[in-house]
Amino acid sequence: MPYRYFWVALFFIGCCALAEGLPDLGEAAQSSFSAAEERRLGEQIMQEIRADRAFYEDAEATDYIRALGNRLASRGADGRQDFEFFLMQDRSINAFALPGGFIGIHTGLVLAAQSESELASVVAHEIAHVTQRHIARIVAQQKQSTVMSLAALAVAILAARANPEIASAATAFGQAGAVQNLLNFTRDHEREADRVGLQILESAGYDARSMAVFFERMQRATRIYEIGSAPSYLRTHPLTYERIADIQNRLERLKYRQVPDSADFQFVRAKLRAELDSPAQAREFFEESLAERRYLSESASRYGLVSSLVRLKEYDRARKEFSALRRVAPKHAMVETLGCRIGSAAGQTENALACYRDALKAYPDYRALTYEYAELLLQVSRPDAALNAISQKLHSSGDDPKLYLLQGRAYALQGKRFAQHRSTGEAYAKLGNVRAAIEQMQIALRSGDADFYQLSAVEARLKELRRMDELQRRDQRR
Ligand SMILES: [Zn+2]
Repeated sequence: MPYRYFWVALFFIGCCALAEGLPDLGEAAQSSFSAAEERRLGEQIMQEIRADRAFYEDAEATDYIRALGNRLASRGADGRQDFEFFLMQDRSINAFALPGGFIGIHTGLVLAAQSESELASVVAHEIAHVTQRHIARIVAQQKQSTVMSLAALAVAILAARANPEIASAATAFGQAGAVQNLLNFTRDHEREADRVGLQILESAGYDARSMAVFFERMQRATRIYEIGSAPSYLRTHPLTYERIADIQNRLERLKYRQVPDSADFQFVRAKLRAELDSPAQAREFFEESLAERRYLSESASRYGLVSSLVRLKEYDRARKEFSALRRVAPKHAMVETLGCRIGSAAGQTENALACYRDALKAYPDYRALTYEYAELLLQVSRPDAALNAISQKLHSSGDDPKLYLLQGRAYALQGKRFAQHRSTGEAYAKLGNVRAAIEQMQIALRSGDADFYQLSAVEARLKELRRMDELQRRDQRR
């Protein structure tokens, strides 16, 4: 469904406001919805989103988005709010904030941004919705007025997001009006998010003017939309001249500064285009931009060309173009990783493994390298070496579900059933899927190939998980 994530999402395209200040919901509303409850609500929604086909998991692109988001969030939050930034594969230009500090960014937004500061301006706006407690206030209000349980709220928010036209959640819960307005920010919220977002953008060192530039470009796009079939959010939340003028007034007080785009921004955009367009289209796009010298970054265009050639299985040409990329590109982990990926895809296993080992020496903390190296080792049935690489990494990133999943697969290849299910269970626990985690731990206990100490460790972990499960069930009853 093309507009699946439009509904809650688009609030950065809100409108100007006339009234001053925000509705004060008072102590009662605040206390009826604690930060911990809000986070658990966000976690519940995230479980559904992580299972969605549009949830875009690419270690390189996600790490970039997280770094950009955290740089901004560190300027906007007081440290008490956790943030998690993630990508959704969606062509529309959008970003959205969920309860609990979860912020989704559409791949279409990354591709439409003509500079890193433009991308940052939209993310800063979403962060401001979180730091100004807009979402928490709306959810608290919903919860008070409708006496919905957190579980029902989670389902309603998701249903509203998934199906904006029908708002099926309204039917399901018989609370049409309440659900329809769920997480629908007011004009005051939008104006405040623009104002606070601008401060965040400026203090994080981005070019604050990009916010107005980007909004103006979207406004032009909106006008085109209005002739045809506009997505509902563009119809109901037009970017007004007042809103843009408001931003421009604030900008007049700021000093001009030129902020160059990072190489990461350029490479990630090229990668997204190379991976998400059809490979032939992507190859054509990068070939043309290189031939006409029409690009923001030559290195990134060459990177994109090599990436699309790998997808097209044109390995000889990919290698040739990679040499050209090497000549112009700065030293960068994404470039090194792409070089190893060519060998891996072309079936030159030994070369590729050596390439990954070398690259890991230069970039030991680079997630994509560890994943791809371990994945290749598993493909050629070398679980010992894979486990070695994974456990080294687990020391520094013990919260990474993907590492536990890879570990589980390596143990499975070794025929170690206890260890396999324990690792898989841990992966589910880190993903917030407590019930699946409990199930895996129970299978581990029955596996029959564990010693007394291993069994007691899993018993203890099961106790913790059951407590978490109990908490979730309580939320659902309330
Ligand atoms: Zn907004």
